[in-house]
Amino acid sequence: MKRNINKIAVIGSGIMGSSIACHFANIGVEVLLLDIAPKELNAAETAKGLELNNPLVKNRIVNTNLQKTLKSNPAPLYNLKFSDRITTGNLEDDISKIKEVDWIIEVVVERLDVKQKVFEEIEKHRKLGTLITSNTSGIPIQYMNQGRSQDFKEHFAVSHFFNPPRYLKLFEIIPGPDCKPEVVDFLMNFGSKFLGKTTVLAKDTPAFIGNRIGIFGIMSMLHIVKDLDMSVEEVDKLTGPIIGRPKSATFRTVDVVGLDTLIHVAKGLYDNCKYDEAVELFKLPSFMQTMLDNNCLGSKSGQGFYKKH
Ligand code: NAD
Repeated sequence: MKRNINKIAVIGSGIMGSSIACHFANIGVEVLLLDIAPKELNAAETAKGLELNNPLVKNRIVNTNLQKTLKSNPAPLYNLKFSDRITTGNLEDDISKIKEVDWIIEVVVERLDVKQKVFEEIEKHRKLGTLITSNTSGIPIQYMNQGRSQDFKEHFAVSHFFNPPRYLKLFEIIPGPDCKPEVVDFLMNFGSKFLGKTTVLAKDTPAFIGNRIGIFGIMSMLHIVKDLDMSVEEVDKLTGPIIGRPKSATFRTVDVVGLDTLIHVAKGLYDNCKYDEAVELFKLPSFMQTMLDNNCLGSKSGQGFYKKH
């Protein structure tokens, strides 16, 4: 089957969803970017007398997220008029528009229950045969496509971008057991040819390849940092550019990824790798729980291991 990707839908507009939307728009693809409508008004909306059903309020999350991504990517790749190719909306009012797209990419929070609900909604509106992929960091496909139709399963895979999608080359494609070979071939080819990625075919194992290795390294450091008696800055100095990682270092990476996301991925590894010798490393050190409780999530909340973002 010949597939043309003229328009995609990205569901979830957080750190990854907005950046993935920009990456596609940048190569000329029209994007419909959707997120949830807020459940409460913020102070500015209340002061203006807006109500929850006002479209400005309903699209606040998606528009704020997209603007943040556009602002933090001022260099050429992201500053062309390509943002005109992105249409924003909210899941309540606009989910039916996914019937017009060629590929739906799910990029919502790393929680199986949330993803399953989103897939259920997607299934109500998606055209048969439309590609559907998840950007999960490691939730097994067999759980994500539970209860879905055969057509959904045949066109469903994980397409895992790394953060930031604009710069990181690795792109993992993980087909589920029912995924059609034609879909796998298409995704592998599209990733390399059009998205400019090093596209790697991975198996449906916990956290696939990149995160199985990467989260192990980060969690190991989070567990031993107290014993080392080193500051966040000292660890980052030693685990960044001087050992050949030009941009990333341990704690800076956690702030960029988001503490909440890292915690969900580590928990997934803990639950799914019971027989792994290193499984205890995927348990959360108690200071991480305190940070989570205090909304110190990294760049997304303005404070994490580093104060300013
Ligand atoms: P994020 O927290 O920045 O964004 C998640 C988005 O999901 C938010 O915009 C939120 O409003 C939306 N959301 C929350 N509840 C929802 C619901 N009930 N229905 C629909 N949408 C809802 O998270 P992120 O970092 O963009 O991660 C998204 C996905 O990408 C996750 O599966 C994550 O594991 C994966 N991922 C993240 C990274 C990373 O470094 N952050 C890297 C690769 C993959």
